[in-house]
Amino acid sequence: MTSTNDIRRSFLDYFGANGHTIVPSAPLVPHNDPTLMFVNAGMVPFKNVFTGLEKRPFSRATSSQKSVRAGGKHNDLDNVGYTARHHTFFEMLGNFSFGDYFKEQAITHAWTLLTKEWGLPPEKLTATVYHTDDEAFDLWKKIAGLPEQRIIRIPTKDNFWAMGDSGPCGPCSEIFYDHGDHIWGGPPGSPEEDGDRFVEIWNLVFMQYEQEANEIVGELPKPSIDTGMGLERIAAVLQGVHDNYDTDTFKALIEESGALTKTATDGEFKASHRVIADHLRSTSFLIADGVLPANEGRGYVLRRIMRRAMRHAHIIGAKEPLMHRLVGSLVSEMGGAYQELVRAQPLIEETLLREETRFRQTLEKGLKLLDEATVDLPEGGTLPGETAFKLYDTYGFPYDLTEDALRSRGLGVDREGFDQAMAEQKAAARAAWKGSGEKASDEIWFDIAETTGSTEFIGYSGTEGEGEVL
Ligand code: ATP
Ligand code: MG
Ligand code: MG
Ligand code: MG
Repeated sequence: MTSTNDIRRSFLDYFGANGHTIVPSAPLVPHNDPTLMFVNAGMVPFKNVFTGLEKRPFSRATSSQKSVRAGGKHNDLDNVGYTARHHTFFEMLGNFSFGDYFKEQAITHAWTLLTKEWGLPPEKLTATVYHTDDEAFDLWKKIAGLPEQRIIRIPTKDNFWAMGDSGPCGPCSEIFYDHGDHIWGGPPGSPEEDGDRFVEIWNLVFMQYEQEANEIVGELPKPSIDTGMGLERIAAVLQGVHDNYDTDTFKALIEESGALTKTATDGEFKASHRVIADHLRSTSFLIADGVLPANEGRGYVLRRIMRRAMRHAHIIGAKEPLMHRLVGSLVSEMGGAYQELVRAQPLIEETLLREETRFRQTLEKGLKLLDEATVDLPEGGTLPGETAFKLYDTYGFPYDLTEDALRSRGLGVDREGFDQAMAEQKAAARAAWKGSGEKASDEIWFDIAETTGSTEFIGYSGTEGEGEVL
């Protein structure tokens, strides 16, 4: 079996041999980009190179970029544990052309690597193109010999990429692998596309146009290429398993979590073990890159992820803090490729232990309250937003933890009510705030808190009375 570490290497070597400079992953906290919570794609560290603001001594690059999608525009947190293919932390393999090669060579490279180097059967692969992109359609026919019914024209934004309202943009082409008809799901564009049968493995973005205020205003003088392939998804394919969580890296983590808690990993606690393994990776890599749990901003997203994992540790019956005991396995699996993980191991363990010890003190009380509050709710019922807020405020339950806890019971949460309760508490705190005497700076402080809150939902009051109040 080819290990995930070998697959990463093989991808970088392939593009390295084809004139690409191998660039190490950038840290998860974006450099100079306050608009973005975490790096969530391979192209992020190259944004300014694509727009021409920055120069590099090369025009082709390849990387395996650490990525987190647990908030903001790309939020896969809720999928974790429930689909075979989503993580909060994953590695995005990519090849980039900065005004160098374009569509034809990008498709040729992707096809050669997948079917020649790695030997995947062409009949298992399907490509999508943006509905108007005849050029890409024809290239898939010419280069890959794909039959027309396996080149699917998609009219939605899924196949049109843009950096923002202004800047480079262009059509994309996604490559899907068919895991077989024993798995539920349909081809892209079909009503069953959300199933796990056809899994998107690679996205090729053809940066071709210039956009201003959401309007295409012209062609880029030097079109560029940005691609992204999920390492864990291609590892599943190459290791002959359907599910990312059955690949070598995840198996090691899940087995360890099963062994430490003396529970089966494929029975009733299957989803919990997966959530724990996934969240262990995201939290550990975030801490290694300098994020620490906090009640606002990036640190709050980290805390949310940690607490969700810790609740699942509690579900499978862990009598003591669990997460910190799994870090060693993670370091064995991934420390070779990511030295920062090895360096930060003691800090990661300490942080997880402290957080889990504290959270466990309120977890049971909070869950009890949740049970009481839902005992009379019918199947499909909704928990009042105020109760969700109380759980947040008193017991440190992030909103999505409450949502996740109810989901398995077929219950929902009243998000609007929650937001309203939060807003009311903020207003009360604002009124009570005596301030430092410098009104302007106090106003700014609250404004910052509120703008961050509107996109990322910050913790507002110190949940454990630790004076972390904004
Ligand atoms: P999906 O439609 O499956 O959510 P996407 O279109 O949002 O994926 P892209 O933004 O195109 O993903 O990212 C490029 C590649 O990164 C995808 O083709 C996929 O292989 C991988 N990827 C994206 N999101 C995740 C995730 N949450 N976990 C693991 N791999 C991912
Ligand atoms: Mg997605
Ligand atoms: Mg997609
Ligand atoms: Mg995609």
